[in-house]
Amino acid sequence: MAGDLIDLQDVVRGGGADAMLDGGDQDCGSGLLLSLTAAMRRLEPGQVLAVGTREKSVLVDLPAWAGLAGHDLLDVVEGVAAGDRVRPEWRLRIRRGGAAPALQFTTGNAVPLGERLWLQTNFHCNLACSYCCADSSPQTQARIMPPELARAAVEEFAAGGGRELLLTGGEPFLHPGLGEIVAHAATLVPVTILTNAMVFARGARRAMLEGMDRDRVTLQVSVDSATPELHDSIRGAGSHAKAIEGIRQARALGFRVRVAATLGPGDIGQVGPLHALLDELGIAAEDRLVRPVAEEGAATSGVHISLDTIEPELTLTVDGAWWHPVGITNPHLKVSDEPVPLGPILNVMRDVLAVQAAGTAQGRAVFRCT
Ligand code: SF4
Repeated sequence: MAGDLIDLQDVVRGGGADAMLDGGDQDCGSGLLLSLTAAMRRLEPGQVLAVGTREKSVLVDLPAWAGLAGHDLLDVVEGVAAGDRVRPEWRLRIRRGGAAPALQFTTGNAVPLGERLWLQTNFHCNLACSYCCADSSPQTQARIMPPELARAAVEEFAAGGGRELLLTGGEPFLHPGLGEIVAHAATLVPVTILTNAMVFARGARRAMLEGMDRDRVTLQVSVDSATPELHDSIRGAGSHAKAIEGIRQARALGFRVRVAATLGPGDIGQVGPLHALLDELGIAAEDRLVRPVAEEGAATSGVHISLDTIEPELTLTVDGAWWHPVGITNPHLKVSDEPVPLGPILNVMRDVLAVQAAGTAQGRAVFRCT
């Protein structure tokens, strides 16, 4: 047996713990757990409790309890109790968990199927972001959607009660026919274009942007951080400065601009400074969005996406129809090999939803054998 003197007060006085609990001979099943729980609740997250015990089973049970309760067992010291040089005693230190506030992602209500339509206008992009769910890059095959296909899809969509069209890519402004697609679609439904805002500073794309209807077209620009470090580490050197400049240009032309940040759970520190930047840029509070990385496309980690976990939003590419735009590279989320007509595609999606709803409603039954 080690001969260190266990003195809980010394541990607290020496800064090794913020509070102490002498468990004596109690085991976890005979009251120690209640005392422990009450003592931990009196601590702030990150503070440490020193626990003394003469009951050996606590050395097994307490670490298991700490793990389940979200606390950290820092160390265990064996010695003898102050004033009792015969009986063994142990001192354990536990740090209270739950310190870090969680990053809050933007939430919203599910849009009824058929009211929102996404068109993946093309797959190539001037950037190659490390988490791109479309796996886009300058080398990606463009898979450009012909304007006549977009026209047919949007007309059927609007006639069926569609309310909102969203254009994404790749970078939609690399599509030479984007202006034509938008000019037609905006006569039927409001249009949002998701863009990195880096490619319409001048020339033909600038003219394309200037020709769009400010009352019917919104631009959604990706900005992940207030300063370039995080944004550029994901999207490429210099991309942050160009995106901010693009936002300024679009706003100067009179467009409504929405900003979307894609962040991981550890990026909570980015949110406050980003809001300050968006204040400065004049982005309205309702036009700010924080979303998680999805484990799709180029991303190697992130939120898992499946038919069961994500509400459908019909998404068309030149070569098919998909459950949701974030699953556009996932063959398990492909609904059809043909992007039009929309009717049969929506019927398949509704059937899937109906089966899912029936399964949820059915639940589990009691099966009595006695
Ligand atoms: S995330 Fe957007 S900007 Fe980045 S590569 Fe993909 S499509 Fe391009």
